[in-house]
Amino acid sequence: MRCPKCGSRDDKVIDSRQSRDSSSIRRRRECLKCKYRFTTYEEIERSDLRVVKRDRTHEPFDRRKLATSIAKAFEKRSASLLTLEEMVDEIVHELETSGREVPSSAIGAKVLEKLRRIDEVAYLRYASVHQRFEDVDQFVDAIHTLGRRIKPNALQRELFPPETTQAQSRAAGAGSRGVPNENHGRI
Ligand SMILES: [Zn+2]
Repeated sequence: MRCPKCGSRDDKVIDSRQSRDSSSIRRRRECLKCKYRFTTYEEIERSDLRVVKRDRTHEPFDRRKLATSIAKAFEKRSASLLTLEEMVDEIVHELETSGREVPSSAIGAKVLEKLRRIDEVAYLRYASVHQRFEDVDQFVDAIHTLGRRIKPNALQRELFPPETTQAQSRAAGAGSRGVPNENHGRI
């Protein structure tokens, strides 16, 4: 650190302590050349990530907003807060290491990519709210693509009223008969 008095670059740290909330470290330094003492602060670099929205306007990236939108998709699902928190951490880290500006659509894609692995219903909820499908066909395609790889009935219960599900279960015959519908009434 360059000495503010004589400009020498040689100094030693004579004291170092954390701020009360541990978010920064204060170092007391002494210039080796002129003995002048000065203080430096070290703190975490705040993210200056900016989001480019669909209408091409920019806004600062808001972690809380991201966390809220994901939590909404998980409403009444069984994911833990820790899972959510980890997911947000991962996304933020990936975004921060990929550049200073990120299109909102890229954030959405990242969220979807992760939701898909954790909870299919949350995935679809998020997609229906945040991914503007060009038309109904596109949305139906997304459901079908998903439908091919998810656990039987998980999505059905979510998307269709219980009557429909029951009728279809009956029509399908054995399997779900006698098994209580865990999601009943909680959709
Ligand atoms: Zn000096």
